Amino acid sequence: MKKIRYVLIALMIGCLIFCFWLISNKNNKYEKQEFIMDTTCSITLYGKECEAAGNAIFDEIRRIDSLMNMHDEKSEISRINRAKANEKIKVSNDTYYVLKTALEICRESDGAFDITIAPVTSLWDFKSGKAEIPSEESIKNALLCVGYYNIVLDGNNTVYKLKDESCIDLGAAAKGYAGDKALEVAKKYSLTGGIIDLGGNILCFGENPTGDNGKWKVGIQTPFKQTGTYEKIIEIDNKTVVTSGTYQRYFEKSGKIYHHIIDPETGYPSRQKYNSVTIVADSSLKADCLATAIFVMGEKGKNLAKKYNGDVYIE
Ligand code: ADP
Ligand code: MG
Repeated sequence: MKKIRYVLIALMIGCLIFCFWLISNKNNKYEKQEFIMDTTCSITLYGKECEAAGNAIFDEIRRIDSLMNMHDEKSEISRINRAKANEKIKVSNDTYYVLKTALEICRESDGAFDITIAPVTSLWDFKSGKAEIPSEESIKNALLCVGYYNIVLDGNNTVYKLKDESCIDLGAAAKGYAGDKALEVAKKYSLTGGIIDLGGNILCFGENPTGDNGKWKVGIQTPFKQTGTYEKIIEIDNKTVVTSGTYQRYFEKSGKIYHHIIDPETGYPSRQKYNSVTIVADSSLKADCLATAIFVMGEKGKNLAKKYNGDVYIE
């Protein structure tokens, strides 16, 4: 009898400790925004170690940016871009993995996605508001240097180019990879859930304490409407949602919209009838590459998403 009483008391104490742990965890919230990778990165985390996790996640995003930003002359991508043909460049595991994955999607999309688009993207300026269309001649010349097959992965984290002029732009892939790595960091901490949003690359994990069923809901931004206007809202469970759209980086000239997703065949913004492509998948890196690829490919790109187990939403 006495033994049962002790067991019951121990159980009650155990329950109390668990409830306190649960309450203290739920009350811990971290919310921060920073401008990195040319976009606003918003992180919301819940759980005991949210503060430390948030700081570590931002450090990780900055680390990926410093490896892959083509505008940072110290980055590994800049080193490759400056290299001569056949000059072997040793890179980190991160850069090598991103190049390998991105080049696979370049091949699978038949060049609709092409990470060597840099000479063309460098001609276009969607930021300053100048609304200048590059000359036909300059686009034609830049296109001569575009071709993902000019980048060779030589094993052992070594990369070389077949042409001096080939240059890599990971603008459509690096944010996705940073998202995957941010999630990896988050998982090392005691957290109950969170949402990582790297400017349209969204990753959710664990439980949403503000949702009715603990699930995370992500709205697909209605193009050209006020931020936060959603026609479609999807419930996701440990997945990533990545959107490539025309409506955030563009200029208008003579009634025509010129946006930042370039068709590598023409060197001009991809002319499609829609304004955004959203991919829901497991890997944010692959989803990022696929969203851009499918934006250029149109309807026929849907088969490519299927190959990678991604769901596609076109707006
Ligand atoms: P966002 O940057 O808004 O997330 P994307 O993921 O589609 O959108 O990336 C667009 C960026 O990718 C461009 O700013 C440019 O740097 C690069 N890019 C543009 N067109 C292509 C393309 N066809 N293939 C690969 N990269 C591209
Ligand atoms: Mg992309």
